[in-house]
Amino acid sequence: MSRAYDAVIVGAGPNGLVAANHLIDADWSVLVLEAQAEVGGAVRSAEDVHPGFVHDTFSAFYPLAEASPTIRSFDLEEHGLVWQHAPAVLGHPTKDGQWAMLHRDRDVTARLMDEQHPGDGAAWLELCGQWDRIGDQMVKALLSPFPPLKNGLGALARLRSVGGLEFVRSMLTPAAELGLAKFGGTSPRLLIAGNAGHADIPLHAPGSGLMGILMSMLGQTVGFPVPQGGAGELTKSLARRFTSLGGEIHCSSEVSRILVDGRRATGVRTTDGEKFAARRAVVADVAAPNLYGGLVPEADLPVRTVRAMKSFELDPGTVKVDWAIDGGVPWASAPPHAPGTFHIADSVEEMTEALGQVSARAIPASPFMLAGQMSTTDPTRSPPGTEALWAYTHVPQSAVRDAGEGGIRGEWDRDDCERFADRMQARIEEVAPGFGSKILARRVLGPREMESRDANLIGGAINGGTAQLHQELIFRPVPGMGRAETGIRGLYLGSASAHPGGGVHGAPGMNAARAAIAHTRVRELLPATLRR
Ligand SMILES: Cc1cc2nc3c(=O)[nH]c(=O)nc-3n(C[C@H](O)[C@H](O)[C@H](O)COP(=O)(O)OP(=O)(O)OC[C@H]3O[C@@H](n4cnc5c(N)ncnc54)[C@H](O)[C@@H]3O)c2cc1C
Repeated sequence: MSRAYDAVIVGAGPNGLVAANHLIDADWSVLVLEAQAEVGGAVRSAEDVHPGFVHDTFSAFYPLAEASPTIRSFDLEEHGLVWQHAPAVLGHPTKDGQWAMLHRDRDVTARLMDEQHPGDGAAWLELCGQWDRIGDQMVKALLSPFPPLKNGLGALARLRSVGGLEFVRSMLTPAAELGLAKFGGTSPRLLIAGNAGHADIPLHAPGSGLMGILMSMLGQTVGFPVPQGGAGELTKSLARRFTSLGGEIHCSSEVSRILVDGRRATGVRTTDGEKFAARRAVVADVAAPNLYGGLVPEADLPVRTVRAMKSFELDPGTVKVDWAIDGGVPWASAPPHAPGTFHIADSVEEMTEALGQVSARAIPASPFMLAGQMSTTDPTRSPPGTEALWAYTHVPQSAVRDAGEGGIRGEWDRDDCERFADRMQARIEEVAPGFGSKILARRVLGPREMESRDANLIGGAINGGTAQLHQELIFRPVPGMGRAETGIRGLYLGSASAHPGGGVHGAPGMNAARAAIAHTRVRELLPATLRR
């Protein structure tokens, strides 16, 4: 082996970098190996769509990072990170010229809701009040290793103050039904259901309501911030902190094998044949299907893992379009406050139908889109008076038909991608007539381009596996796991494929690093002859 470290981290996505920072804080020697030419994984940005415009290649808004005790604990502002916020967190325009709006000031959100349906403002403020009492404990419980004893008990202790079982019931109510009971107008329902659409949970399934409320309440408490200068500034600040403490990062260094000896991970080998020894741990910021049976051959895995991985379920694929826009988005009716994030669907029912088509393996006829006005949120992203804009939507991993009229085949070659991007663009045109004439440049990333830029995005799956209940908690990535341990001593799964899943909060990376430290302490208490 060429060099030995206490830990080798495979992958410099946010989770790999969080694990690296935690291990270096524990005085371990740490090497990070990254396949791509730069760090960041799905948190990167570049001036590669149009000169003078910085576009985020994948993810863009980071409420989960801002709410994450792990990421906050690194004081990334001292390493160059500056957060920026749009005038309004989230907007949802409909063809009748109305906007559903989530403003960071909850009183403004409530006033706008009341203008559309008197009484909804008070109901929204009541929801915010409940969240104030229990939300912090819930977020901490969601982000801690399973079972979340301390924070789970903390949340339970607060349950009575928010209405007890009635509150639990509303969290378990699917997003499509949730707003119906609470609100008379359409805006709160659109906001909650649209926010639920950030995960791949069908809007009629349990878990979607919790996701919708979680994202809406994060919007109301921490906002949807973005790093000034581009998404990549977040992961670069994690990398800068790590290297300032003596950590090493090798980019363009793809790991092809985790070396295993007697059911213990001992190091890694890269595609160009270099070997690096790991004295204490290997942390894999790698999608589960690429780790189990890929970087670790089946023969080295416990039989139960090999068997369980056969039913591992990816989340759907993704098509993302980036535009450089001259003069801003020509909204048919101007929003009361300019939003950073916006959602495109004409009703909760249309959103439900589009997501249902994806579940039924059809390419959606009227895709439900998540979108972002990045220059509105962070004016450094493009010249004054222009907009760096994006939208993405989900498509089936393997499509059986096109629910629309375009005969898109689901091959996701250039032809499919461009024609589907036309369909997405037409959706924006419906609420912003003349949008097409403002376009200076357009780039379409389909499932294949996503995976080639980040191997974890298998078939354009953005969350490291479905976020539906049957693959969460103790079922993530396969039944019985739910933690970072892999069944191979010294190897830890620290990517979004591990509990608690996708999103930039760093929890899988932190859980993996903590597990590695805890096991090492126990192992190093043993006499050398008994250590394995
Ligand atoms: C289009 C899109 C939009 C999103 N929007 C948001 C959003 O707005 N907000 C949010 O919170 N989340 C969002 N997400 C999700 C979020 O980006 C991911 O959940 C998060 O990046 C997962 O982090 P990770 O470290 O587990 O994996 P990744 O970020 O995917 O990083 C994995 C890294 O490991 C490297 N790697 C993989 N295999 C190897 C190997 N064999 N050898 C060496 N290196 C390897 C990859 O190159 C990559 O750099 C989005 C994701 C996508 C794709």
